[in-house]
Amino acid sequence: MDNPAFPAILGRMKHDSDIVIVGGGLNGPALALALAHSGLTVTIVDALPEDVRNDTAFDGRAYALALASVRLLRAIRVWDSIEDRTQPMLEIKVSDGRAGAGPLSPFYLHFDHAELEEGPMGHMCEDRVLRPALLAKMNETSEITQISGDAVVSQTTGPDGATLTLASGKTLRTRLIVGADGRSSGTASRAGIQRTGWGYGQTALVCALSHELPHHGIAHQFFMPPGPLAILPLPGNMSSIVWSESDKTAAEFAALSDDDFLHVLRPRFGDFLGEISLTGKRYTYPLGLTVANSFVAPRVALIGDAAHGMHPIAGQGLNAGLRDVGALHQVLTDARQRGEDLAAPDVLERYQRWRRFDVATLAMTTDLSNRLFSNDNPLLRAVRDIGMGAINAAAPVRRAFMREAAGLTGDLPDLMR
Ligand SMILES: Cc1cc2nc3c(=O)[nH]c(=O)nc-3n(C[C@H](O)[C@H](O)[C@H](O)COP(=O)(O)OP(=O)(O)OC[C@H]3O[C@@H](n4cnc5c(N)ncnc54)[C@H](O)[C@@H]3O)c2cc1C
Repeated sequence: MDNPAFPAILGRMKHDSDIVIVGGGLNGPALALALAHSGLTVTIVDALPEDVRNDTAFDGRAYALALASVRLLRAIRVWDSIEDRTQPMLEIKVSDGRAGAGPLSPFYLHFDHAELEEGPMGHMCEDRVLRPALLAKMNETSEITQISGDAVVSQTTGPDGATLTLASGKTLRTRLIVGADGRSSGTASRAGIQRTGWGYGQTALVCALSHELPHHGIAHQFFMPPGPLAILPLPGNMSSIVWSESDKTAAEFAALSDDDFLHVLRPRFGDFLGEISLTGKRYTYPLGLTVANSFVAPRVALIGDAAHGMHPIAGQGLNAGLRDVGALHQVLTDARQRGEDLAAPDVLERYQRWRRFDVATLAMTTDLSNRLFSNDNPLLRAVRDIGMGAINAAAPVRRAFMREAAGLTGDLPDLMR
């Protein structure tokens, strides 16, 4: 379907849709919905069949969705269908030490949503809730064509548009390719975009637990020498844990039986939530930083993990991806209103300028936090403890951190306001 609102020069190539999004994980569908609601036609391609992505046991992850991300999900009409399966994060407690044993140092951070006029800093949402909700909403949206179980294998771009070829041999013509194909983005490498990054030698052990006592909506982050342990509240007496250990230890723990795994977890977790038991499977994720050297190339833009993948220490990976979604949606809809080519270099450059500084700052912050906290050096320990104590004692600084965690700082796209 060609959109008659575009300049005649682009009419020489017949486009199947205005935009092709490669990757139907989380950020790809969010962008597809935002663009479709603005009247653009979108084709979204994912290598995995839809039933695999819809599987409610597909992944062990749960996301801390910042308030700004919740606003975006509301704007794309997904939030209402999931809100009652999410858990508001009412408080966040950060301690330098082992869970349950009380902080090993007297310094800790405590963020309470009562201090923030906008409400809870965010909501916890399981991947198996968010992913199917995005897919269901796309199925209801006539401007979106979905292709599942077929991978993009090549792409060419020219002055009139871009052509993608899928593994099945099918070809798609479009004005703009958006790479939402994750950390090892083929869209980026086919466009000649290099990446900068490194591994942390850490692996995250991820699972859900049920526990005897209520969590009262409190999220905990315990900084331990091998890496942080996050205990994140889910609806009911359940929590998700993201436990970072060295690759070697994580591999040993991952190989344990469920009972033995709980045995090594308990002393770190403590007993503040009473008896704990595993709910569902356990997953491991190797942790590393990877940032694309450019977020754009001729007729190509990258969003989400395809543009940047970072340590989950601050739970900001998906939130940063949804900011890309908001920014790219706004840049493209503005360009369309002005009658510009959606993939004109200065249009794409506007998107890149908007996002790159924010992403570089976040990548540096998560990287430094991990280095500062994932060790037992007494000097660094003193520095971080004094820092946490100072932040906690100063209400305006504490509130500034809470606004940052809620995603309310910086140049917010309209969909997040
Ligand atoms: C342990 C852990 C905990 C995390 N916790 C949080 C958190 O609390 N809060 C938060 O904000 N973020 C968190 N994150 C980060 C978050 O999971 C990611 O940022 C997010 O999943 C990225 O989504 P995406 O859509 O960009 O990529 P993905 O979800 O990786 O999707 C990419 C899609 O592209 C498809 N694809 C790939 N290649 C092709 C191809 N050639 N053709 C067609 N399709 C293709 C894949 O099949 C896949 O479906 C966490 C990450 C980890 C590892």
